[in-house]
Amino acid sequence: MKFETKVIHSGLEPDPSTGAIIPPIYQTSTYVQSAPGVHKGYAYARTDNPTRRILEQNIAAIENAKYGICFSSGMAATDAVLKLFKPGDEIISTNDLYGGTYRTFMRIFEPLGIKFHFVPMHDLAGIQEKINDKTKMIWVETPTNPMLNIIDIEVVCDLAKKHNILTCVDNTFASPYLQQPMDLGADIVLHSATKYLGGHSDVILGALVCNDDGLFERLKFLQNGTGAIPGPFDCFLVSRGIRTLHLRVQRACENAAKIAESLRGYKGVNKVFYPGFSDHPGHDIAKRQMRDFGAMISFTIDEDTLEAGSRVLSNTHYFSLAESLGGVESLIGHPPTMTHASIPREERIKLGMTDSLIRLSVGIESADDLIADLKQAIDRL
Ligand SMILES: *Cc1c(COP(=O)(O)O)cnc(C)c1O
Repeated sequence: MKFETKVIHSGLEPDPSTGAIIPPIYQTSTYVQSAPGVHKGYAYARTDNPTRRILEQNIAAIENAKYGICFSSGMAATDAVLKLFKPGDEIISTNDLYGGTYRTFMRIFEPLGIKFHFVPMHDLAGIQEKINDKTKMIWVETPTNPMLNIIDIEVVCDLAKKHNILTCVDNTFASPYLQQPMDLGADIVLHSATKYLGGHSDVILGALVCNDDGLFERLKFLQNGTGAIPGPFDCFLVSRGIRTLHLRVQRACENAAKIAESLRGYKGVNKVFYPGFSDHPGHDIAKRQMRDFGAMISFTIDEDTLEAGSRVLSNTHYFSLAESLGGVESLIGHPPTMTHASIPREERIKLGMTDSLIRLSVGIESADDLIADLKQAIDRL
């Protein structure tokens, strides 16, 4: 089955009792048993819920995985992955990482005894240097946030397999329409379904997929044991969002390509970071492992100050100033004062995040309107 068919049909069967093409939202906490322990496959709704199961099967299918497991947020999914490990274990991660993930690593799991190493992951030797017999996982995020660096997933997974190390890929920025890390050798793929999968900025939800039976058992045990499950209505919203994932992401990518092109060379704009440019350092890898180059763009302006960067943000009309990404509406953000404000300035500049760096999550409005909006905001500097 092709991707476009899977998003609409996988996991979804008409309701057997009424024929409703969309099954009802099972807003229930428990299920009646005909005798102790005799039930229809559902005993208690923390453990399993039919609305959630539809979503879990769908996400597994569109990521080319055997199993899907949903959580109350992307961070709850991350938390479950990290609970696979014990004190003394080590994890190697990309250094250009989602801020909330970094915070969970350093403020929750490092004090519990897990050690993290952060490396620029396009440098294989750098990863290799940190591998020892305590290394249990490599954590990949690509494209990275907000610098849009590209990491070769297959190369990293091959290295990990050679050392018997698990790989977890946070696929939130690309979405499964653009990139399918299980096919490239990942053991676990993680999503903040809050972003492209949900797609309408109206729900918080997380998901994991995997192929290995043992890994699934442990993650499922953690989901039930910890209880960070999504409610049935939130599962319904994400299922509904996924049915148009391919159309939304495709249009957003087309818009992003046009916007990146018109920002580059525009008066007042300094650098534009976009993997679709043939001179972007990760362009060839992106071309190989992604269907398109994504709908995230970062850029800096000539007046490279915090003040000028935030002035552009307050001058746009269609780009709303907000954290998050992946919705139908375009968003604009200023990582140095927003998502990445907790990183010391020197560290931030080393990663390429200079003071004026602006990040765009391009939506599916008219590209002409979006371009005009950005240009007038830059002109007013
Ligand atoms: C948003 C995000 C998360 C966290 O997901 P929530 O649903 O907000 O908990 C993790 N990784 C990436 C790349 C994200 O963008």
